[in-house]
Amino acid sequence: MSNKKSDDILCSYNGIKYVTVTEEERLIKEISAQYSKTGFIKAKFMDLLAWARTGSLWPMTFGLACCAVEMMHAAGSRYDMDRFGMLFRATPRQSDVIIVAGTLTNKMATALRTVYDQMPEPRWVISMGSCANGGGYYHYSYSVVRGCDKIIPVDVYVPGCPPTPEALLYGFMILQRKIRRQHREATYDKLKQNITPLPN
Ligand code: SF4
Repeated sequence: MSNKKSDDILCSYNGIKYVTVTEEERLIKEISAQYSKTGFIKAKFMDLLAWARTGSLWPMTFGLACCAVEMMHAAGSRYDMDRFGMLFRATPRQSDVIIVAGTLTNKMATALRTVYDQMPEPRWVISMGSCANGGGYYHYSYSVVRGCDKIIPVDVYVPGCPPTPEALLYGFMILQRKIRRQHREATYDKLKQNITPLPN
């Protein structure tokens, strides 16, 4: 039996049909239906928290090299990251996520670690481009860190030299999915803690 709803949008490529309705669109539809029926909405606190967090990811500005230009492009009017609630901040204290965009040198590594340490929890890291992912062209250079994950923990790696703004946005969507999953797992762990074992 198919779970496809009749108003799902379909696109086809090479004869294969894909559902293009995103998780968010489906959620909005369900919320609107529930609200118009009852006048209020019921939701789990962790789901609301995940929704608020994923809809207001504020990236720390940390452009290091050419990849940073693509990062700026993603924030410009054409790709407009603002519509996802992603607003660049110039201070780590107001940021949720840091995008390491470019070649990380040994000299800059300490600054990266300091900025990361100043970000409040929960915080996430996106490594943007081959240089940040593993040194890229400069992998064998004496002065370049072979991957920013040697300095800070990375959540999402965006490949490319440079990655396109679309690739960065896709990286953000993967991060949003990861955050939602972390919240679901946290809820599950909480439930497990509250279960009293049956007496023998
Ligand atoms: S990955 Fe390519 S575009 Fe990005 S910083 Fe390195 S050399 Fe520049």
